[in-house]
Amino acid sequence: MIDSQRKQLEQRISQVQWDVDMGSRSTFKVGGRAEALVKVKDQGELSSLLAWAESNGVPWAILGGGSNILVVTDRFEGMFLQLGDGFTEIRVAEKKVTTATGYVFISVGGGCRLGLLVSFCSQKALACMEWATGIPGTVGGAIRMNAGAHGSQMADIVHSVTLVAQTGQVLEVPAEDIAFGYRTTCFPRESAGQRYVIVGCTLQLASGDAEQVKGRCREYAHWRKEHQPGGAGSAGSFFKNPQDDSAGRLIEAVGLKGFQLRGAKISGKHANFIINNGDAVPQDIVELMEFIQKKVKEETGVQLEPEVHIY
Ligand SMILES: Cc1cc2nc3c(=O)[nH]c(=O)nc-3n(C[C@H](O)[C@H](O)[C@H](O)COP(=O)(O)OP(=O)(O)OC[C@H]3O[C@@H](n4cnc5c(N)ncnc54)[C@H](O)[C@@H]3O)c2cc1C
Repeated sequence: MIDSQRKQLEQRISQVQWDVDMGSRSTFKVGGRAEALVKVKDQGELSSLLAWAESNGVPWAILGGGSNILVVTDRFEGMFLQLGDGFTEIRVAEKKVTTATGYVFISVGGGCRLGLLVSFCSQKALACMEWATGIPGTVGGAIRMNAGAHGSQMADIVHSVTLVAQTGQVLEVPAEDIAFGYRTTCFPRESAGQRYVIVGCTLQLASGDAEQVKGRCREYAHWRKEHQPGGAGSAGSFFKNPQDDSAGRLIEAVGLKGFQLRGAKISGKHANFIINNGDAVPQDIVELMEFIQKKVKEETGVQLEPEVHIY
């Protein structure tokens, strides 16, 4: 950004931080820097900010909870946007339909933590969200990634999504117009280059039994503790699972479980987790990623694709 753009940005938004370490904003606990990190307070502010960025040619990207990103570039020129307090509300939507199976619609802000949503559902005895227990990040990030676990995914429960387009226009998109894929989501016109921020959604959940909902959440939390490395910096599963196979199984099969490349290591507990041993630099993680891809391709013929979004 040129000086006059920086000034204009500060005049528009109260929460702008300059020259920000993105590593401390990512669960990998490592990453390059960003020219600016902008916390947007509400939808009106976001619309006008995006329209301003569009007309000034200012590059932007969105940061959710930082649990599936790796900022490799030394310095991202432009701004990372983060949704602030005006995007965190959870409420039972007025459009409440009780059918034989008892569906309940809830509206959730894109900046709401997924964990808070799971707790809310658990307290209100709302079923269909338990699978997300232990997945970090925000609701916006979960929709963008079509996050999933235990055979369920966001696509199963999304009824509609509210977006702010790069022009500042607000759109409400029904689920049937959204192309959900495996750990990816594509909105109308996105493949033609239109960019969006997910600011909220309506989810379709089911009335459940409070004890059963809580029990399933406990079960899934226990499963994560047993099967995934806790504590260390990571972005969860690094690669997407190939069709009818598992990336972890392939990495283990080529003998790389526990393998270390400088500060980056393949977890000894779950071979699809690349972990930051504490002193990794982003390049260590990228080199380890490429090494795994090469070895798996040579020995099994399968090309692994990262699930993590790399900047
Ligand atoms: C320990 C651990 C366990 C995990 N387990 C799982 C799991 O079981 N299943 C699973 O699917 N994932 C899992 N993940 C990965 C990650 O938590 C999910 O992908 C999560 O949904 C990402 O959300 P986020 O808010 O952190 O997104 P970020 O990492 O901040 O962003 C990811 C992408 O989404 C975009 N994005 C974020 N917010 C928005 C928004 N509001 N509008 C538009 N785009 C947006 C970003 O620009 C980026 O491209 C795990 C990660 C960790 C660290």
